[in-house]
Formats: sequence, C-alpha cells, structure tokens
Amino acid sequence: MGKKEKWKRLMDAFGRKAAPEYEEKGYPQAGLREMAQTLSGTDARQWGKYAFHREPLEGKFTEEQKDAFTLRANACGKEWAKRIAGKYESRSPRKIAQKMGLKIRMDNTSRGGANVLFAQFVQPDEITLFADCIDRGCALREESGCALLERETLTDVLLAHELFHAVEERNAETIYTRTEKVELWRKPFSNRSSIACLSEIAAMAFAGRLLGLESSPYMLDVLLVYPYNKDMAWALYDEVCALVGK
Ligand SMILES: [Zn+2]
Repeated sequence: MGKKEKWKRLMDAFGRKAAPEYEEKGYPQAGLREMAQTLSGTDARQWGKYAFHREPLEGKFTEEQKDAFTLRANACGKEWAKRIAGKYESRSPRKIAQKMGLKIRMDNTSRGGANVLFAQFVQPDEITLFADCIDRGCALREESGCALLERETLTDVLLAHELFHAVEERNAETIYTRTEKVELWRKPFSNRSSIACLSEIAAMAFAGRLLGLESSPYMLDVLLVYPYNKDMAWALYDEVCALVGK
C-alpha cells in the first residue's frame, strides 16, 4: 500500500488515534451513564463544533462559516439517506451494501493500544468492521443505558457511516461534502481542498436518518473510546461539555 493510499484509509475510518497528552491532564471522571445522557442531548450544531475541532483547516473559517458548513453537511447526509433508501428499497445498511456491490469484512484481530478503530471504508469496495470494538461497545450497553450500544444497532450504525463514505466516493463529482472546497493558496496555481470533517458530519447524519435514530451517532465517537482509554474518553467528553455549556 502506497503512502497516499494509507492516508486515505485513515481519513475514511470511523475511529481515532490516541494523543498521549490526554493521559496527564486529569479530566473529570464522569460516569458512563451521565456521559451517555449528556451526549445524547447534544445537537447537530454542537457536534459540528466538535467535528471542526479536529479539522486541520479549522483556522481558515469563522464561527458563522463553520455553522453554515455544518448545516449543509447535515442536510447532505440526510438527503442521501433518503435517496439511497429509495434507490435500493431498503434501510438495512447490510442489504444496501450488498446491492451496491460492497464487501463487508469482519476483522477479528484484537485492537487497542494507540489506535482505536471502529470501522473503515477501504476504496474501492470494502467496509471493515472491527469485532473487538463492537464487543467492547456492547459490553457497556447496560451500564451506559445507551440504546446505540445494542449489538445490532451498533453494527448498523458503523456500517451506515462507512456506507456514506462509499456513496461519497461514487458521487465525488456532485456530492456536497466533496464539492465544498476551500482555497488553500492561489499562487502560482489555485489549490483547493475539500474539508474532511464535513464528510464525518454528513456520514453521521446519513446513519442517523437511514436508521431513524433519535440521538446523533456522533456520541459513539466518545463512548466507544471508553473501553480502550478512559482518560481519552473523559477528555473528549469534557470537550463536548464545554461546547454544550455544561
Ligand atoms: Zn467517517
């Protein structure tokens, strides 16, 4: 696998890399149930801010621009969920993936360590789910009270999220998350880049609409880290609390 391809893989992954500085700061140690409750009440605009916090190009935008991008990315995800469900006459991510000719691979190697990876889309046609992550997430179902951690739901959410990345890839010329671009520099050539976090925002909205979820699956971005690295989960949770003013 070439260097560029490897980067691409990471961009399309539902998961995150641990940053060592999380461990030393001593974030408030919130209980799992309290975390799940606050996170489920976090709205799309707040998740947009969370998404932009990890966007390399964040510094190029004003708060108003970020809000506007967030709105459009959410609309894009929902619109495509409607379109895809209609086109393939199904709301089951597994069935849709099949009809789209995508392979679903279950990776059974144990994870952990520096990289927490839940699922990924590998071009052109493969979605990988990480069994260890699903197992550890489901184990928190009761303690957290979070319905998204029901095994079937969790699997569907992860699949639906990656399905959106496949949809993006196949509609790269027209889909909002790819056509929205920012000028990085103009001279001597114009260099325009798409904004990576818009894909993530839209993928979560896509999953939410396709599966008819009440709260944003973005909460899994925090909760699924918990069984691997509590300090990092608390750090992420603390960030969300700051965004929602708790
Ligand atoms: Zn993603």
